[in-house]
Amino acid sequence: MYDNNNIFAKIIRGEIKATTLYEDDKVIAIQDIFPKAKVHALVLPKGEYIDIDDFTSNADPQEIKFFFDSLSKIAKQLGIFESGYRVLTNKGNDATQTVKHFHVHVLGGELLRAF
Ligand code: 5GP
Repeated sequence: MYDNNNIFAKIIRGEIKATTLYEDDKVIAIQDIFPKAKVHALVLPKGEYIDIDDFTSNADPQEIKFFFDSLSKIAKQLGIFESGYRVLTNKGNDATQTVKHFHVHVLGGELLRAF
């Protein structure tokens, strides 16, 4: 069950402040509060999805395409499109997902360690 008291739901509703890097009616990108790279954005659909599986199973195909298309748009806006960037998402306990609102991390702005 989606818990609408999670921190990203509160940020989307404007109840908690965040540095917004990009926003439209379906997607918001914010700066991660504990950045793991020079550029570290969190990209969230505004719809209520717990994780990537909830999103890809339950969102409309257009919403899914719109979301993933927005990543390159946001990377361009952040100036990391040409130099390259990493996209990752955590799902569940073993991946240490801490916020139960689907989001992807977009990291770049420097050479990232391989893993
Ligand atoms: P996860 O571990 O769920 O994949 O990622 C959650 C991310 O949210 C972490 O990288 C963490 O630093 C970030 N985060 C946690 N609380 C806040 C907050 O209040 N504001 C912002 N901007 N980021 C947050």
